[in-house]
Amino acid sequence: MRLTWPDNKKFAFTIVDDTDMSTVFNTKPVYDLLLNLGIRTTKTVWIYPSRDKFTGGCLSDNDYMTFILWLRDNDFEIAFHGAGSGDFKRQEIILSLEIFNQIIGYYPKLHVNHANNLDGIYWGQKRFSLPLKIIYKLLFLNGLKFSGENIDSSYFWGDICKHHVKYIRNRIYTNINTLKYDPYMPYKEVEKELYSNYWFSSSDGYDVNTFCSLMKTEDIDRLSEEGGCCIAYTHFGSGFVDEYGKLSQKFKENIEYLSSKNAWFAPASEILDYMLENKGSDEYLSALNSFKMDAIWFVERVYRKLFMKE
Ligand SMILES: [Zn+2]
Repeated sequence: MRLTWPDNKKFAFTIVDDTDMSTVFNTKPVYDLLLNLGIRTTKTVWIYPSRDKFTGGCLSDNDYMTFILWLRDNDFEIAFHGAGSGDFKRQEIILSLEIFNQIIGYYPKLHVNHANNLDGIYWGQKRFSLPLKIIYKLLFLNGLKFSGENIDSSYFWGDICKHHVKYIRNRIYTNINTLKYDPYMPYKEVEKELYSNYWFSSSDGYDVNTFCSLMKTEDIDRLSEEGGCCIAYTHFGSGFVDEYGKLSQKFKENIEYLSSKNAWFAPASEILDYMLENKGSDEYLSALNSFKMDAIWFVERVYRKLFMKE
C-alpha cells in the first residue's frame, strides 16, 4: 500500500515507548529532545507499581505522574501497558483504566500487552496464526496461560478492552518501514474480534542499540524514498540515557537527522486513524495475509529468542 501522507509529507514516523524500566531520570531527556524537534509520539504507562522483576515508574507516583501530564500537555499520546507489571486481576484492571481516565482525561486508545502479565489479550502463542502458534508453543513451553480474552479467567478484561481500546500492537519486524512488512494495518482479525478492535505492527527498536541500528541514516533515507511508515517500538528506559543523565549521542544524531526530513511526525493513534480512513482494502485481515506476515515475523522472532536471548 502506498499512501499519500498529509501536507505532502514524504513518509510517516512515530514511536511507541514501552514503559518498562522508565523513570523520570532515564526517560525525560529523550522526550526533551523529541519535543524540541517537534516529534510527537506515544508513551505507554502503568497505573500501579510493579509486582514482579520489572522496574519503572507509574501514575501512582507523583513525580512520574507530573512527567506524564507534561507529555500529555505537549500533545504526546498516553497509552496503556496494563494496570502494572505482574499479577493484576479484573477488578484492578478496570479500576486502573478509570484512574487512567481521571488523571489523563481520556481512556487509552492504544494498548500494548506486557511481557508475562497473564492479563495479556490474545498473547503468547495466540499472537500467531495456525500452524505457527502450535510450533511456537512447542518451542517456548513456559506454561504461561495468558487469558485477558478468556471470560472464565480472573484476568479477563476483554470486554473493557473492546470498549475503550481501538488499537493493539502485535507483530514486530526488524525493518524500519513497518508498512512494507504490514501493508494492511490497521485491521481486525476474525479470530480476535470478540474482545479487540484493530491491530497494528511495529518495527523493533527494543533498546538504544537496536533503535540506533534500526534508524541509521541510510535506513531513514530508504524509508523516505519508499514513502513508508515507521512505527518504532522501543523502551526509552533501556540505555538511551546514561547514569549521569546524559542522552546517547548516537540516538541524538539519528533523531536529529530524522527530524530534518519532510516527514509526518504524529502519535501512533493519529497515524493509525489516518491509515484506517484512507484504507481501500477490507478492514479484516485475510487468513492468507495473516499467515504470510506471521511467517516472516515468526522466523525473525524465533531467531532473536534463540540467539539474542530477548
Ligand atoms: Zn513491557
